[in-house]
Amino acid sequence: MPISDEDGDGTRSVRAGLPDAVAYEPTLPGPVFAAHFHLPGEPTGPYAYGRDDNPTWTHLERAIGELEAPGGTPDGPPHTTVFASGMAAISAVLLSQAKAGDTVVLPDDGYQALPLVREQLEAYGVAVRTAPTAGDAQLAELAGAKLLWIESPSNPGLDVCDIRRLVDAAHEAGALVAVDNTLATPLGQRPLDLGADFSVASGTKGLTGHGDILLGYVTSRNADLAASVRRWRKVVGAIPGPMEAWLAHRSLATLQLRADRQGASALALATAIRSHPCVTDLRYPGLPEDPSYAVASRQMRRYGCVVSFTLPDKACAERFLAGLRLVDDATSFGGVRSTAERRGRWGGDAVPEGFIRFSVGAEDPDDLIVDVLRALDAASS
Ligand SMILES: *Cc1c(COP(=O)(O)O)cnc(C)c1O
Repeated sequence: MPISDEDGDGTRSVRAGLPDAVAYEPTLPGPVFAAHFHLPGEPTGPYAYGRDDNPTWTHLERAIGELEAPGGTPDGPPHTTVFASGMAAISAVLLSQAKAGDTVVLPDDGYQALPLVREQLEAYGVAVRTAPTAGDAQLAELAGAKLLWIESPSNPGLDVCDIRRLVDAAHEAGALVAVDNTLATPLGQRPLDLGADFSVASGTKGLTGHGDILLGYVTSRNADLAASVRRWRKVVGAIPGPMEAWLAHRSLATLQLRADRQGASALALATAIRSHPCVTDLRYPGLPEDPSYAVASRQMRRYGCVVSFTLPDKACAERFLAGLRLVDDATSFGGVRSTAERRGRWGGDAVPEGFIRFSVGAEDPDDLIVDVLRALDAASS
């Protein structure tokens, strides 16, 4: 039986995208490895060639659609297209929608590869304007725009904008709106319910949560927009492997457990370290005194697992990272194993040298807090 919109997030996570029960078949059918499918006569039917469609994607796309857009559309389920990575999904939206002469508005504090996308758009004759996420500053750039790109909470700064307000203004100005929902996951925020035309995400992070696959997706309630994104996937062939798609679907079953556990631990960690003498500018959107909290608490249902803060300098940040026992020094976020990194080592984000992006995993929160406080003390002494 399909899940109902009245079911809770745990129920919806474990059952998302499952096909109807068939006697003697598995609950979630295994990955289908196929470059081509039997195709007698005219090329009709859902599965013909492996770059265009695959039954393992179909199950995963249904699952993500049920989580991103409960209730679907008046005509049926929402439209989700899975991709090889988050960047494949982001590029698919921007490069399928924007044409030479159009204007696109991006955040200036978004994911570190967005400036590369900007260069590509400009090389194709698309004008790009940027503004910060905080304070809904993108509002001032909307006149004449074709598409507004929102990232909220922003990565790695954790600023939040009022998505509904920006969507209303963008639509008024005739612009489409896409929201990068990577950090929140569909259990933390549902951009399509806030009016956005596309919810786009990297499934590499919290959605799948084990740090072992790359994946991306785009969900829309608009069939024509979705078809142009799907066409773009066919053109560039940025498809996920069936094994990755199946692993992602398997991981979705624990999304609510992970999001609740990791979010609660992130709040506990933020609370425990915010007054440590060497910690400044600590950010977590779920912390009531955080600048993002007022807007976040209106539009988000969970605040994610990323906490950011600044240590006095590069050397102190490196001592802190080296002193952690339970936390891997690694990029990315959202996994069940805590990771942290000195974000300035990449050179792409406008952050201080001592800036730490910390992704809280599923360890026992007390173990983690003891470890982090001990490493902070050691780094500052
Ligand atoms: C990681 C990330 C991406 C890119 O996703 P990949 O799967 O690494 O291609 C895009 N947006 C945000 C906010 C991210 O954190």
